[in-house]
Amino acid sequence: MWIGSLLKRFPELVAELAPAAHGGLRERRGGGAVGGTTAPVRLHVSDALRDITDGVVELEEAVRERLGLRSVPPAPVPVRLRRIAGLLERVAADPVLAAHVEDETRRMAARCARTLGDPEQLVRLPGRCPACDSVSLRAFPERAEVRCVNPACKGHDTEAEAEVAS
Ligand SMILES: [Zn+2]
Repeated sequence: MWIGSLLKRFPELVAELAPAAHGGLRERRGGGAVGGTTAPVRLHVSDALRDITDGVVELEEAVRERLGLRSVPPAPVPVRLRRIAGLLERVAADPVLAAHVEDETRRMAARCARTLGDPEQLVRLPGRCPACDSVSLRAFPERAEVRCVNPACKGHDTEAEAEVAS
């Protein structure tokens, strides 16, 4: 689930960093103030990109090692994510590894979302709410929790309502 979110978000993060090249040029030509205001944002994005890239590389290595698979050639992050996704069935058979993959991908998805300016990214979950039986379950990566977002749901608390309304 988090891998899907990362796959979707990672290119946005890369795109976010792309204007840095133009900004850098402008900064050099014009000199000063314009670049100054956006530079910290770009640093923030490039830090996140580096963090997520390292995280995905380490995660893939850890998964392959644990599953006793040969190492694979280096590849861009989306390719690595797809390769990890392709192993998920085997990962799921190993509770320790599955927990690690979930923690790491959730952490990276949250980092990605934060960097892109989403205070909290909701991820639609498959399946139905046990309380109201509607397909309204959402996961909150920042807090690692699942809530029902159906306003009519009885299992639904006021805090969740505030989250959804805002
Ligand atoms: Zn519900």
